[in-house]
Amino acid sequence: MTSPNDTVYLVTGANRGIGLGLVKALLARPDTTVIATVRDAATAAALRDELAPLSTVAAGEATRAHVAVLDLSTAPTAAQVLAALPPAAAVPRVDVLVNNAGRMAPMVPIAAAAAADLRAAFETNAIAPLAVFQALQPRMASDNPRKQPPKVVMVSSTVGGIADQEAPGGAYGASKAALNWITRALHVENAAAGLVAVALHPGWVQTRAGAHAAEAWGYQGELPETVEGCVRGMLEVIDGATRENVSGRFVTYKGKELAW
Ligand code: NDP
Repeated sequence: MTSPNDTVYLVTGANRGIGLGLVKALLARPDTTVIATVRDAATAAALRDELAPLSTVAAGEATRAHVAVLDLSTAPTAAQVLAALPPAAAVPRVDVLVNNAGRMAPMVPIAAAAAADLRAAFETNAIAPLAVFQALQPRMASDNPRKQPPKVVMVSSTVGGIADQEAPGGAYGASKAALNWITRALHVENAAAGLVAVALHPGWVQTRAGAHAAEAWGYQGELPETVEGCVRGMLEVIDGATRENVSGRFVTYKGKELAW
């Protein structure tokens, strides 16, 4: 049973890269519960083992890390999302949803992007994050014991920027642009609920996704940001996020605003 004073985070794509870094950093904080979602049962079992030493508050008390299986290859229904999560009796709220899972696609010029890659990228990178939010929205009320606004963080990418395109982003870029649109719409349409919705670029980070982009663009150097540095910056932005500062905007993990 989650303590009423805990901040409850749900992080998708939590088995590696930025998602795993976020989960580990969050579990180092007091008064925190984390629901970490991964694609399949075998990965969930491995992550449970990895997080076990970090997740127990004290002997005999409830675990603070819940690992759930959520395959986002196809956007899940609300019923599928809720069935995957710990029961509401154990974790009644989600305060901060971090839609982090992302699917890479060939970084080719858009004229060469295959329809199958576009469909798959939109499904995982735009439709699924919205579907997860839709399922959780009833559990994301601002009327919670912490009196904090609910937050949805969409892990986006400068590759999804429309104004400042540099290198080919293919289906991946187009899907992140759609995710940005959805983020802004959630901000505009949920003012009364006090929802904070932000599209967050995590930097160019030393992960499999970061390496994929480097290979596609012929970049030879070391990728500029570590997972630890990225996570530190992202959490600073997320912790400080309000309706007034970053909600409805596209910002970097250092808090710098980007053009859509
Ligand atoms: P990784 O490739 O290391 O991690 C991607 C994560 O997404 C994995 O946990 C992966 O799970 C999960 N995922 C992908 N597809 C699915 C799916 N269909 N269902 C469930 N989970 C899925 O990369 P990062 O950690 O770097 O990526 C995290 C986010 O950051 C992504 O949204 C990415 O687009 C974004 N980003 C990253 C940048 C970078 O430089 N690294 C730059 C800009 C944005 P599995 O292991 O099962 O595949």
